[in-house]
Amino acid sequence: MFCRHCGQENASNAVRCIRCGEAVSPEIASPRPTAGGQSQPPPITDAATTKTSVGNNLVWAILATLFCCLPTGIVAIVYAAQVNTKLSHGDIAGAQESARNAATWSWVSFGLGLLVSVAYVGLVFMSIATGH
Ligand SMILES: [Zn+2]
Repeated sequence: MFCRHCGQENASNAVRCIRCGEAVSPEIASPRPTAGGQSQPPPITDAATTKTSVGNNLVWAILATLFCCLPTGIVAIVYAAQVNTKLSHGDIAGAQESARNAATWSWVSFGLGLLVSVAYVGLVFMSIATGH
């Protein structure tokens, strides 16, 4: 078979290209063997939703931590991380509970972050207005 990467001809039982090391075995070469031709969502949500129907809200938790409020965002991430752990133990109800908590704390983080931003901008304007 020919390497898809560099075009080098390899032995039919070759696993990797002898020239560039690219995987040429059909099993290894196909990146998503179970995709089934359906359109795939972005990788992060893909990993979170394909296994079960319980979303873990980890993306929102991380975004909330990065852009809003660190302490409450970390709480959200902890809950989001619990979702997959509980799912792997078959605890669907617990996973849904953790997912709900993760979403709640994410929103708390967004709210606090917004509040802090508004307060900060307000303080800056006040110091400008008073001449300091
Ligand atoms: Zn190659």
